[in-house]
Amino acid sequence: MSEFKNSQILTKLIHGGISKDESTGAVNVPIYQTSTYGQSLPGKHKGYEYSRSGNPTRKALEELIAELENGNYGFAFASGLAAISTVLSLFESGDEIVVSNDVYGGTFRLLDKVFTRFGVKYTQVNTSNLAEVESAINDKVKAIYIETPSNPLLGITDIEAIAAIAHEHGLISIVDNTFYTPYIQRPLELGIDIVIHSATKYLGGHSDLIAGLVAVKDKKLAERIGFLQNAIGGILEPFDSFLLIRGIKTLGVRMDRHVSNAEYVVSRLAEMEDVKKIYYPGLKTHPGYDINKKQAANGGAMVSFELTDNHNTDVLFSSLKIITLAESLGGVESLIEHPASMTHASIPKEIREAAGLGDGLIRLSVGIEDAKDIADDLIDAIIKSRI
Ligand SMILES: *Cc1c(COP(=O)(O)O)cnc(C)c1O
Repeated sequence: MSEFKNSQILTKLIHGGISKDESTGAVNVPIYQTSTYGQSLPGKHKGYEYSRSGNPTRKALEELIAELENGNYGFAFASGLAAISTVLSLFESGDEIVVSNDVYGGTFRLLDKVFTRFGVKYTQVNTSNLAEVESAINDKVKAIYIETPSNPLLGITDIEAIAAIAHEHGLISIVDNTFYTPYIQRPLELGIDIVIHSATKYLGGHSDLIAGLVAVKDKKLAERIGFLQNAIGGILEPFDSFLLIRGIKTLGVRMDRHVSNAEYVVSRLAEMEDVKKIYYPGLKTHPGYDINKKQAANGGAMVSFELTDNHNTDVLFSSLKIITLAESLGGVESLIEHPASMTHASIPKEIREAAGLGDGLIRLSVGIEDAKDIADDLIDAIIKSRI
């Protein structure tokens, strides 16, 4: 099996898709702030009729994500969840989807509270365990939906193996690639059918917009998703399309710093007796280390860790000076959160704890500030939080 190669993506980040304006030579794609386009005769136009169906600024972004993921077709949505809703609308009443058991909370809510009402069912399994995935497949199952790494425990699933299982059973394979981005991992190259992003996170990168992206290789699948994008209407507007293209240009330099900072913070946490366990796929002790190394460039910049019982996490959070206590991730600024009371609070305590999400678990999105400043801030706060 080949190792992840990252040649050419740095150039694609800057010049991929439609990266300039042919009519004026402007080095950036203009913001086409228009809802409609004049026609010379009914149905005779320059490729655009109405901006829900197509807009040149959004089109530039859609071609960019297709190129970055090494796919053939891209789609931009008003949010990650709008992208996920549109992809899930491929299925119909009676269909079932096999999903990672620690899938993003909003995705779980969408499946559990919305799509089940339309008869689309889901089964949750530990997708790191391929035997569990196989045994969940029956005649009604139409898709496998995974996140790798998962959230917040950064579990790793073998993407190539999932794609192979899906193809063997005629299922659509879907990867939410938000935590890694195509700079670190490209699931379409490993045989996956659909890649989804919450571009709100690393792709946008500056915590200043909400957006979702989808990339696929297959033409027929692209036609179905394109139809649903227009029919459902959850499209990304021109200004945010522009902002997202702008954010993506610096993805490579940002990710390099995010990852080296994360590796440094992990090395500092590993020295502390206060820290019972570190979840980071770039650590040799992580159970998914070898699989992650095979399919991704590195372990990314999301780090979760568990403190020993003798800590007050409220004191920890209120002692931080640089790191912000907030939901979300992937921005230039370091963000920290407490899954038990924030992102995963809706899961009953017993189930949550059985899944490894105890009260001492903390999730960190390592930003691009000075690595030592981030680590010092965190470690000072951990020390102050000792009971
Ligand atoms: C944030 C997130 C989403 C949802 O995206 P929005 O842009 O907030 O709608 C989906 N998947 C993952 C992994 C996320 O982190």
